Amino acid sequence: MNEEESFLMNYERRRKFLSLSSSCIECEACLEVCDTFAVTQDLLKSPMGRLKIANKIFNDEHISDDELKGIYTCTLCSLCDQFCQKEIPISEIILESKIKLVEKKLGPLDIHKKITLGVIEKENSVNGNPEDRLNWIPEEYLKNELFENKKSSTLLFLGCMSSFRVKESASASYQLLKEGGYNFKIFRKEPCCGEYVYSSGDLQLSKKMFQENFDAFKKAGIKTIVATCGGCLYAFNNVYPKYVDGWDIEVKHVMQVIHELYQQKKLKFKRSEIEITYHDPCRTGRKLKNIDIFDEPRELLNNSSKILHEFSKNKEFTPCCGAGSGIRGVDSSISIKIGKKLFDELKTEIIISSCPLCVFNFNYVNYKTQAGIKPIYITEYLLEYLEK
Ligand code: SF4
Ligand code: SF4
Repeated sequence: MNEEESFLMNYERRRKFLSLSSSCIECEACLEVCDTFAVTQDLLKSPMGRLKIANKIFNDEHISDDELKGIYTCTLCSLCDQFCQKEIPISEIILESKIKLVEKKLGPLDIHKKITLGVIEKENSVNGNPEDRLNWIPEEYLKNELFENKKSSTLLFLGCMSSFRVKESASASYQLLKEGGYNFKIFRKEPCCGEYVYSSGDLQLSKKMFQENFDAFKKAGIKTIVATCGGCLYAFNNVYPKYVDGWDIEVKHVMQVIHELYQQKKLKFKRSEIEITYHDPCRTGRKLKNIDIFDEPRELLNNSSKILHEFSKNKEFTPCCGAGSGIRGVDSSISIKIGKKLFDELKTEIIISSCPLCVFNFNYVNYKTQAGIKPIYITEYLLEYLEK
């Protein structure tokens, strides 16, 4: 697509979004489901309020610092989209307004610029030391690991969170796949998927990252990507196909593969004596196009726990953990309050998630509130009850 075609496409898309956001009838139905509004009671941090701000942004009107913060405290969880009485794709419009803010050099915020600089310099979005990237690989595997030189067209993509901040999720996923005899490889220097940069509104940089990553995957002969993180999964499944010409890579969540190995009886799990609660990440279900990871974790956890509890709202109606779209850096008090709201509903000490970002935020909420909750990434739990 040449520059003129791309400009016209952008123009048409914005006109469409402007007309959609103007169709809000202010019925306030969306206020009931938005957690950033629930914990702040600030209309600027509600779906309806954010639509009004997006309208101003699309119309090139001035917006205040509070309105800018209203846009950047949206977790892009997409829950409001399901409840809008006029079927407005609210979260898509909020993301598009961020893209326009970046074009006008009014966004992203300083925190996003700092993290984006880290992505460029350190190739990860969590300020991890590049030298520590592979610290999570168990010693017995490290000496034989061939990385990208291994003969396999399947890549286990750990992502920045699993590699640096919730290493148990990387290590346990890797070990379970090895135990199940699954053929895969990992990259010695894995790139950032670009989801953080994309959701901050920097479309130009994220498109460049998507293309470079696709080229690297192709060079390594990758036909299937298995992701441990909801954010990476969402990026590869929903966003890359939109922006990368010729994207033809199959995308799976690690739970789908573990479940396949379980069905093939290559992995067996013991039943524990403990009760647990499962939390659906928004980026392993509601936000995904064509797939959802609802049944696989439930079947495995049902068979390896005393009782598997559910939240009152789950699957496609699951609330965000409180950390989506980089809002922890913008206003961590919102992330804490949203996480605590979920904790207040728990009947168990253990909460399990299939996304390392959720686990990371739950750990942070637990530390800040001293709630006595133990967040665990799903493969870490399953590894503990693997029958050998
Ligand atoms: S996407 Fe989520 S956080 Fe953002 S306005 Fe909608 S419900 Fe609220
Ligand atoms: S539910 Fe839809 S139409 Fe109603 S206030 Fe919210 S955004 Fe507007």
